[in-house]
Amino acid sequence: LSPVPSDIEISRSQTPKPISQLAQEIGLLPEELEAYGKTKAKVHLSLLNRLQHQPDGKYVLVAGITPTPLGEGKSTVTIGLVQALSAHLKLNSFACLRQPSQGPTFGVKGGAAGGGYAQVIPMEEFNLHLTGDIHAITAANNLVAAAIDARIFHEATQSDKALYSRLVPSVNSVRRFSPIQLARLQRLGINKSDPSDLTPQEVSAFVRLDLDPEKVTWQRVVDTNDRFLRKITVGQANTEKGHARQTQFDIAVASEIMAILALTDGLADMRARLGRMVVGSSRNNQPITADDLGVTGALAVLMKDAIKPTLMQTLEGTPVFVHAGPFANIAHGNSSVLADKLALKLVGEEGYVVTEAGFGADIGMEKFFNIKCRTSGLRPDVVVLVATVRALKMHGGGPNVTAGVPLPKEYIDENLQLVADGCSNLKKQIQIARLFGVPVVVALNVFKTDTQAEIDLVCHIAEASGASAAVPCHHWSRGGRGSVELAHAVKEVASQGSHFQFLYNLQDPIVEKIRMIAQKVYGADDIELSPDAQAKIDYYNQQGFSALPICMAKTHLSLSHMPEKKGVPTGFILPIRDVRASIGAGFIYPLVGTMSTMPGLPTRPCFYDIDIDPVTEEIKGLF
Ligand code: ADP
Repeated sequence: LSPVPSDIEISRSQTPKPISQLAQEIGLLPEELEAYGKTKAKVHLSLLNRLQHQPDGKYVLVAGITPTPLGEGKSTVTIGLVQALSAHLKLNSFACLRQPSQGPTFGVKGGAAGGGYAQVIPMEEFNLHLTGDIHAITAANNLVAAAIDARIFHEATQSDKALYSRLVPSVNSVRRFSPIQLARLQRLGINKSDPSDLTPQEVSAFVRLDLDPEKVTWQRVVDTNDRFLRKITVGQANTEKGHARQTQFDIAVASEIMAILALTDGLADMRARLGRMVVGSSRNNQPITADDLGVTGALAVLMKDAIKPTLMQTLEGTPVFVHAGPFANIAHGNSSVLADKLALKLVGEEGYVVTEAGFGADIGMEKFFNIKCRTSGLRPDVVVLVATVRALKMHGGGPNVTAGVPLPKEYIDENLQLVADGCSNLKKQIQIARLFGVPVVVALNVFKTDTQAEIDLVCHIAEASGASAAVPCHHWSRGGRGSVELAHAVKEVASQGSHFQFLYNLQDPIVEKIRMIAQKVYGADDIELSPDAQAKIDYYNQQGFSALPICMAKTHLSLSHMPEKKGVPTGFILPIRDVRASIGAGFIYPLVGTMSTMPGLPTRPCFYDIDIDPVTEEIKGLF
């Protein structure tokens, strides 16, 4: 329709197939499906075993140029592309998407189910609770937080003997260590299995984690943009007197448990990663883990359903997995390894799995390659790099673009000079993908204000800059048929093969790995480490954590650390303010500048427009 109706109107005008029908169409057995209502279902991981001998399909990554704050359409391109591949090229295809946080849904950005005629439906299900994975993460995360403060409290108020008798209770006058406790004893180098054999010193070492309240790094989480939780004091009731401490809440998707969910390849691996999570340090600077707290098994139980990807569908009935949505700065911002693996088996050798990396290619794609592909062992066949005329004009020197404010006239009228100048950013992002040996197809996401001359110019420059193909896409206004040209280009380029390689070796020193990303990907002259950052790196080296990949926490609004620097900034030194580690998820994350892990609400948040009709139960206002 023209004009294109609102996202929720389009979503509601299409009746989704029953999820059991979709599951049957893609070859799932009834026992592999767990329906959550009529339009979404979790898929059992046993499927991976059943299809282990099936060759994988082609693996396509959708990334983008450095975006404006409005987003340039990576999700819509992902959905439009699978719609075109399946409905128009008649190829098996699957989209794998991140689950959005409810913070932005009610805050500034709104939903993330795609848009226009390239959406996942029902979009209200997608954007709200879905199948409860984020709630499970919140519960697990906060159980760890409660365990930390309770443990500090109990250790401070009880003798070694009292702690021992409570931690290792006697049942029918027999004390026994639990498997989790035996594992802790082993880590302490105490090879005894009979609780009565421990010396008083060993008892003390066993019962006292001696967590330093000042060195607790684990935070509580909630899935709401609640700026007043950025710094809080806990433990102010009389019952905890003397144990108050300052801490903070993060948005739930920033939890390390979310990053683990996205990177794990099964229940055993997830349990092991949960156990390795470092929650703080002892007074003598030893890392304390979830295993030390004895909470690992309970966390795995809370996460047992979240580990299964959720099956949904596009407006045109193409299958979609929605699974995991880690923060794109302090974590790697990619959907789950498990969803990709399942989808690659389900589509078969001739099929296509299209997944998306958050932020611009310098961040999301770099982490997709160096972190996600390294963990999964999967290799991408082609990168689809999304660009818009509006973002290119901004890189060419156009005025700032702000959400909720009408676009300045440079973005409405034709301006070939701004577009040509801004293509520097597109060229650089193409080069970054080529650095990893993966061929690139540029998808120009067409807006109604774009002119033919502007579209032709971008496609011409892209092809002259190393892209294997560059095509305009009209999926937002036309659905799958608006992306047929892109689908053909992806099919053609994917068949030519890629020569994927990592940017760095895990064994390289931490500082070298950071420098490599800064220079080769961002174009920095060098890096500069703050004393804090250097001290942390020394500590991680000493603890044996140095052979992990790097997950840069940098603004997505510039290739540099300065969001106002557009195009391709040069001549800058990348400052590394601090370095942190997610040992369970398995990466080191350097902080470039300050990163907020708890967004706030604007004066007029999206929730003003959201309501439900009490008679029809129709939701309105979710875009
Ligand atoms: P990203 O995944 O890159 O953040 P999205 O695909 O979520 O971007 O798109 C951002 C917003 O822009 C969404 O609200 C989407 O509906 C809208 N949008 C995307 N492409 C177009 C287009 N061609 N015309 C109009 N609006 C669009």
